[in-house]
Amino acid sequence: MSALRLAFAALLAAPLGALLAALLGALLGATACSGATQERDRRVVLISLDGFRADYIARPAARRLRELAARGVRAERMEPVFPTKTFPNHYTIVTGLYPYHHGIVSNTMRDSLLGAFGIGDNPAARDGRWWGGEPIWVTAEKQGVRSAAYFWPGTEAEIGGVRPHWYFRYDGAVPRADRLRQVLAWLAMPADSAPRLITTYLSDTDDAGHRFGPDAPETDSAIAKSDSVIGALVDGIARLGLAGQVDLIVVSDHGMVKATRAQTIVLDDYVSLDSLTVVDWSPITAIAPNPGAARYVYDRLHGAHPKFDVYWKADVPARFHYDSGARIMPIIGIAADGWRVTTRARARNQAASWSGGDHGYDNQLPSMQTLFVAAGPSFRQGTTVPSLANVHIYPLIAHILGLRPARTDGSLDSVRALLRP
Ligand code: AMP
Ligand code: ZN
Ligand code: ZN
Repeated sequence: MSALRLAFAALLAAPLGALLAALLGALLGATACSGATQERDRRVVLISLDGFRADYIARPAARRLRELAARGVRAERMEPVFPTKTFPNHYTIVTGLYPYHHGIVSNTMRDSLLGAFGIGDNPAARDGRWWGGEPIWVTAEKQGVRSAAYFWPGTEAEIGGVRPHWYFRYDGAVPRADRLRQVLAWLAMPADSAPRLITTYLSDTDDAGHRFGPDAPETDSAIAKSDSVIGALVDGIARLGLAGQVDLIVVSDHGMVKATRAQTIVLDDYVSLDSLTVVDWSPITAIAPNPGAARYVYDRLHGAHPKFDVYWKADVPARFHYDSGARIMPIIGIAADGWRVTTRARARNQAASWSGGDHGYDNQLPSMQTLFVAAGPSFRQGTTVPSLANVHIYPLIAHILGLRPARTDGSLDSVRALLRP
């Protein structure tokens, strides 16, 4: 490294680094400050494979993912946030915030002003008032970096007055090939109009995990389907001549555990259902007791079942980051790994998928750990870290794209080991 470059490095480490880098870039021109030039070209494709448990990558079906990890970096486990459900975790990945800070505290929730929130084709998911914090595509758009989404929770809502430049209304029936084709079409656009941040999403592994369980051959087929999309993305990026510019980041939101009908906690075995409203059922049970009934409900449920931890909201262990905020209900139950909460009436109608798999549990359980693999010009080659929390992905992407990050619960320092010096 030349003395001049070393001087740059020292300046960049200073608090005014960004400002000085811009000044120096302008003074010395693009050739002398190649780092800044690279930053302007760099693009990120963020893809989520829903419900891809950390250990799935070792299965034969995940060949292209393993190849990608060998060329780049991987975490043996990515730690999700609690509750280990789809919406809270996808929104944590793109905001760097714990759910009680970004407001999407579960897939199903209630707000005293906004009413009920649910996933699926629900207008609430398109109402920006639910979505707090600043997702990475908002940070990007605000700083003049174009973004595009072929699905990601939150991308259909106007958040802080901003949406991705391109986005689609969620439709789980859109074939994988269509999502892939659109992502590659975005990448193939002229550099001055192409999005530099692209998100996309596949649900095959979650669908199969729920229906058949994590260890079923059907889940291996789902892994193979998602893996082939990763392979086609890698090949497509290479064909476009963009391998030196695109950082491909593959993540998932949570793991999956086998859950059997025998592992069921029947709420009305312990408490009168007339005394409460259940806002979210299982495996996290969010309970709004009727006025005057809180003590009764708590006393009936706390300690009632060995596989069901029940807390007053303020007493939820700190490591869950789940003890404050208006959308977290006054009494929180958390079922043990593989257990589910229901009622006698609901159990009679529960689908066959109840003998498949589930998630939503304690985010430190091995079964809930999930996927992180990334490769491209910003990443080291062949580096594996033992564990990475998903709150650090927002600062990582902001750094790669040269964006000023919003405040988060994550930190760039936690991901530096993955980045090229
Ligand atoms: P979970 O119940 O936590 O397993 O959620 C997985 C489901 O979330 C998927 O099967 C989809 O139906 C749904 N989903 C995923 N992404 C979106 C989205 N962007 N908008 C609406 N629903 C979604
Ligand atoms: Zn999910
Ligand atoms: Zn799921």
